[in-house]
Amino acid sequence: EQIQFGYIHAEVTNHDSALLSCSSEVLTKENIVEPMRDIRRALLEADVSLPVVRRFVQAVSDQAVGVGLIRGVKPDQQLVKIVSDELVKLMGGEVSELVFAKSGPTVILLAGLQGVGKTTVSAKLALYLKKQGKTCMLIAGDVYRPAAIDQLVILGKQVDVPVYTAGTEVKPAQIARQGLEEAKKKNVDVVIMDTAGRLQIDKAMMDELKEVKRVLNPTEVLLVVDAMTGQEAAALVTSFNMEIGITGAILTKLDGDSRGGAALSVKEVSGKPIKLVGRGERMEDLEPFYPDRMAGRILGMGDVLSFVEKAQEVMRQEDAEDLQKKIMSAKFDFNDFLKQTRAVARMGSMSRVIGMIPGMGKVTPAQIREAEKSLKIMEGMIEAMTPEEREKPELLAQSPDRRKRVAQDSGKTEQQVSQLVAQIFQMRVRMKNLMGVMESGSVPALNN
Ligand code: GDP
Repeated sequence: EQIQFGYIHAEVTNHDSALLSCSSEVLTKENIVEPMRDIRRALLEADVSLPVVRRFVQAVSDQAVGVGLIRGVKPDQQLVKIVSDELVKLMGGEVSELVFAKSGPTVILLAGLQGVGKTTVSAKLALYLKKQGKTCMLIAGDVYRPAAIDQLVILGKQVDVPVYTAGTEVKPAQIARQGLEEAKKKNVDVVIMDTAGRLQIDKAMMDELKEVKRVLNPTEVLLVVDAMTGQEAAALVTSFNMEIGITGAILTKLDGDSRGGAALSVKEVSGKPIKLVGRGERMEDLEPFYPDRMAGRILGMGDVLSFVEKAQEVMRQEDAEDLQKKIMSAKFDFNDFLKQTRAVARMGSMSRVIGMIPGMGKVTPAQIREAEKSLKIMEGMIEAMTPEEREKPELLAQSPDRRKRVAQDSGKTEQQVSQLVAQIFQMRVRMKNLMGVMESGSVPALNN
């Protein structure tokens, strides 16, 4: 059983140089051209409207040029991260919580076109708030679709929340007034009103909504938007916001195929955040809107994002600085060796990480399996060392008896132990050289 030290060596050294490199590489006009094209395509495929894409790509390109690369991260990966951060910002950054009235019932008015999921959302929202300890009441205001009233009553039963109905003969504003009175009598915390939608935006619907809004004086006016709406979302949100004034939006049907580009338009055209998302037909399928998750979905590059984030996380650790000091004083020992291999492990399976390390793309799966196996073997040997031996590899270098013991305790051959010991000294030398190269300002070659 021969360990492929050569390969591991290359891998670990690569990892080290990634860890240590005070990378002088930056994003340039040239190296972002290609990845920017991919990002542009991703946005268009996610149904973000063209003007938004244009503005966005321009703004991000300007901002990206000159940004330094995180150690171990390629230009295109770093760019995706910048783009994603910008998308997150565009969508409001943080989760936007619902606002509650300081006194009296909180009133939430739901608006939106027909079929977007308003009625479903009304009941989902009631359940969602109930779970937060609030008492709720629903008002059935969709007088043009008798089935909608029945549907809300059924859903209300399902989530065990009272539903105020007044049939289809009463005007919505009147229903709103009566419903609100009822809610005040019952002393509920939150009143949610479902309203009628049309297939298209029309004046009658808007006038009716305005009237209802005037009567209710709602705390929240939430526009329900179907995620499949795509590019038309911008116009839709603009009209509703100009006509009735919204405080936020709820994006539904995110469980579908849509990449959700509509989400980007909402904030961009109205300045109002998406507060919640619906991702299924069940009553439980309503959650807060997380801009970062949405950005990942829109870009369709979630893997890259989580890699860059993990890289940032791992690289930022004080360990790295510590390590740097140790290497400069040639004290790199087996503990550091372990720490590093575990840092690699933390970043995900080796196969994924290696694929992402610049210059390591051509490694075959068989080589990776071999490398993973070798790391395990090395770990086994290091674990068989005493703390003193781990800190002072020279003890092992000088004593055949110690090597023999480690070999026996770890079930490996003495030759394997000798190789490992030789390797740590080799690594010290290599790292010292690497540091020298980096201090002289040139970029280290990652491949050997
Ligand atoms: P409204 O006309 O706006 O009141 O829409 P409805 O609440 O009646 O919903 C229309 C259809 O969309 C119904 O079949 C719902 O079950 C479905 N629906 C609503 N929200 C979601 C969602 O988040 N995911 C999925 N897959 N279907 C949904």
